[in-house]
Amino acid sequence: MAELVQRMLDQIRAEHADNDDGKLADYIPELDRVDPSGFGLSLSIADGYVYESGDTATEFTIQSVSKPFTYALALECLGMEAVDAKIGVEPSGEAFNEISVDKTTKIPKNPMINAGAIAAASLVPGATADDRFDRIHEFYSTFAGRELAVDHDVYNSEQASGSRNRAIAYMLQSFGVLDGDPDEILDVYFRQCSIKVTSTDLARMAATLARGGVEPVTGRRVASAAVVQRTLSVMITCGMYDATGDWVSAVGMPAKSGVGGGIAAVLPGQLGIGVYSPLLDAKGNSVRGVAVCRGLSANLGLHFLSHTRESRSTIRNAYDVRPGVRVFELHGDLLFAGAEQVLRRVDGERDEFEVAILELSRVDDIDDAARRMFAGMRESLVAAGKEGFVVDPDRVVEASHTEGAVARVFGTLEEALGAAGNERGAPAESGG
Ligand code: GLU
Repeated sequence: MAELVQRMLDQIRAEHADNDDGKLADYIPELDRVDPSGFGLSLSIADGYVYESGDTATEFTIQSVSKPFTYALALECLGMEAVDAKIGVEPSGEAFNEISVDKTTKIPKNPMINAGAIAAASLVPGATADDRFDRIHEFYSTFAGRELAVDHDVYNSEQASGSRNRAIAYMLQSFGVLDGDPDEILDVYFRQCSIKVTSTDLARMAATLARGGVEPVTGRRVASAAVVQRTLSVMITCGMYDATGDWVSAVGMPAKSGVGGGIAAVLPGQLGIGVYSPLLDAKGNSVRGVAVCRGLSANLGLHFLSHTRESRSTIRNAYDVRPGVRVFELHGDLLFAGAEQVLRRVDGERDEFEVAILELSRVDDIDDAARRMFAGMRESLVAAGKEGFVVDPDRVVEASHTEGAVARVFGTLEEALGAAGNERGAPAESGG
């Protein structure tokens, strides 16, 4: 039933596939040469399960999506206080490459603009540029769950055309923010921007942040919960260039974009999203990347301020009431991620039953995304020669959301079992 979620993603992506607004980044020739039609969307659930739609294997340079990760590494290595002494956490309201520091503190306003990101690279410990970069490279790779590579052409071009970043680095040195040789630090920064990722890598990196610093597939802790919380805080306030306010209102997820066309977005506790589409709007954000994230947020109810309660584990119990009839008892608040977990579990156990019954008596609340998903469950089961019923005494899955006869909803488990008996030609357990 993972295909239900897959279909949702494919559909949202398809809605924006024809949009060719925006233009490629052209400050270096390498970025201007990429295929403008590339469009990949990946979603990693917090347990590591990944959905992919479109060009999810296409590699592109991470560019500014690197900034939160290097900041997290600096925090991890030096602690909050030392990093806060060199980099602020206030939205700047200025262009990302502004040659400026905060008027009062004389340090970069935040780590998501170039001044702050160059300062963050300088804080990563290492005797040489190679040492620092190796640490950064390894850190990103553990977030992504695979060894990432560097695009050397992009790196050389960044080096050759980086006057503005050089101006920033030397300014930072003059204010005492950078210890060490500005050119060496820039070398690290240019290399970090030139690391190649796919939309799936970004989704995995985002999911690691969503899990509070634990890489979902390996279960390995990559960063501490406190560091992740701080990193997500600056992503939410400063992550999308000058369009951050718009993004937070419409999408509502901590995120970072880059001029390579990537966006990584995080829904804490639930999932990570990675999108790639290299055509950029005037602010430097991927046009289709932003559009698809708006669509996902609206359709799947992902805005982080719409969640008022902690989700508990969704499946309370699963048991066979008689051979071939399995009951899945759900509880708590059912949002997209919880419903996805249920559908995948039912799907995974499909060979073990003839009839699946979702028991929703203990469900407190359910959102539209979860309703739609449960409504579609029966269709998938029937296509596989099985049957699926819902027990919903409180009518949390309203008829209007179940699209006609798609779902079969009963008031009690007995009624559902009766129907299951009739379906299979077996006697019903009890009347109903
Ligand atoms: N390498 C780029 C720079 O520092 C990154 C730009 C970006 O993605 O915002 O100028």
